[in-house]
Amino acid sequence: MPFSERYSRQVLFGPVGEAGQAQLAKTRIAIVGCGATGSALASLLSRAGVGYLRIIDRDYVEPSNLQRQVLFDEADAAESLPKAIAAARKIAAFNSEITVEPHAADLTPDNVEELLAEVEIVLDGTDNFETRYLINDFAISRNLPWIYAAGVASYAVTMNILPGETACLACVFPDSPRGVVETCDTSGILNSAVNFVASVAATEAMKLAVGARDKVRRTLLSYDVWTNDYASVKTDKPRADCRACQQRDFVHLAGEGRPHISLCGRNSVQIHERQRPIDFEDMTRRLSPHGAVRHNEFILKFWREPYELTLFPDGRAIIKGTNDTAIARSLYARYVGS
Ligand SMILES: [Zn+2]
Repeated sequence: MPFSERYSRQVLFGPVGEAGQAQLAKTRIAIVGCGATGSALASLLSRAGVGYLRIIDRDYVEPSNLQRQVLFDEADAAESLPKAIAAARKIAAFNSEITVEPHAADLTPDNVEELLAEVEIVLDGTDNFETRYLINDFAISRNLPWIYAAGVASYAVTMNILPGETACLACVFPDSPRGVVETCDTSGILNSAVNFVASVAATEAMKLAVGARDKVRRTLLSYDVWTNDYASVKTDKPRADCRACQQRDFVHLAGEGRPHISLCGRNSVQIHERQRPIDFEDMTRRLSPHGAVRHNEFILKFWREPYELTLFPDGRAIIKGTNDTAIARSLYARYVGS
């Protein structure tokens, strides 16, 4: 089947044109987080012909994701596929002409240099401010444009950060308090709110990619798809005393005081264990006497009522069934290692 006409409708749109389409093919974008917003961003930009997408996500597909996470299907949820892997497979099925590099990983100060290396734009598909401040510090330090995007309930908010030009995330939002629960998805969400914010952010990324910098929005845009409340606040100037873009004090990049264990909402706790490669075959033998165990190439799941432990090959774990980090830590120590 010939696909030479794949982008014909987009090329017809004057501001993209043949030249813009060629630019898109050369553009390298990282999407951090591939839940609802990240899925929609990845779907739009891969269909639009962005030549290289790096998709970074720490989680796996569950049935409750299917209401809004447009790249996943029931088979992905049944297999508990890591979202990054499932996204790359799905994209390959509708656009095999671009490169997608999936990383089933949590973006942290330890791996941010590696995971965000050699891209031109970073897009926010995360669900927490800890990761967003990390992206902000990294992007400001490297002069890399990035786009903040968030959706909760029926409300969506997005902002383009152009280092050296506009305000950054830390200019607009003061740093969130440490040690407080940062939830992923506890307030509910309409799929239209996340698809709205992803559509706006993906379009801004396309403008950057084709060189239409004068058309890039310089406001913090918020819109509630249910109440129709709308706001657009100017962000064309950095705040004079901003910690990140003015004082260049990149505390989040340094990762000071960052816990190795964190709550990720949904009655779950994540344990970021480094340097503990897990052999799934071996672990299955060890855990079988204690509960049900199942694994594929990417994750291992272990059920020990009332908990469900999901292990990744690098030793990272998500423990479901508790919000108590001490319980999660002790389960991990008992069944995986201390
Ligand atoms: Zn700033």
